[in-house]
Amino acid sequence: MKERGILAVVSGFSGAGKGTIMKGLMSRYDNYALSISATTREPREGEVHGREYFFVSEEEFEDMIREDRLIEYARYVDHYYGTPKDYVMSQMEAGKDVILEIEIQGALKVKEKFPETLLIFVAPPSAEELKRRLVNRGTETADVIDARMKRACEEAEQMDRYDYLLINDEIDRCVEELNGLIQGQHRRMTLQEGFVSQMKQELKNISE
Ligand code: 5GP
Repeated sequence: MKERGILAVVSGFSGAGKGTIMKGLMSRYDNYALSISATTREPREGEVHGREYFFVSEEEFEDMIREDRLIEYARYVDHYYGTPKDYVMSQMEAGKDVILEIEIQGALKVKEKFPETLLIFVAPPSAEELKRRLVNRGTETADVIDARMKRACEEAEQMDRYDYLLINDEIDRCVEELNGLIQGQHRRMTLQEGFVSQMKQELKNISE
């Protein structure tokens, strides 16, 4: 039987480069599945429904909440974002390691529901660099950039609730480090599970 996949959450300030790291990881390794979230925000240029996000209306999103079709959801800078349950569960069952690229409130909710989830926070080398990346991306208005920088200040307060901090100084190095972290967690879980069931059996045998 194929081993069940693990769940990893990757969060980080808007503009920290999570998207690029995810692309690198997906193109180099085939054991990962990236969850596609639902959101009520408008698509950015080049974004495709069902690829970057499922772009839905507020009503559709609220239906998903009511019907318990989301693992978690949160409001982020005026919009809803949430993780559809079915895909994540079926991919993990199929043995894929599933990555959620979500913000902090959602990450903490997932950890509460599934305590063995690995929480990884991606940060740029400095705050200056973050602002520069947001401005250079050129997809947001000045107001949205300000809102996202404010949100980064709030999120920084909670960075220490994550299991690992990944500094995005160089993409290739980051991708390898991320893969190492997730595979390390895999080995830890397998070892633990194997050890626990073997120990239970041995104790039973001895006490019989
Ligand atoms: P963006 O609008 O830049 O694509 O995403 C804004 C923020 O929402 C990012 O921090 C992103 O990680 C987060 N996000 C994306 N999908 C989800 C989701 O399903 N749930 C939660 N809680 N946050 C999400």
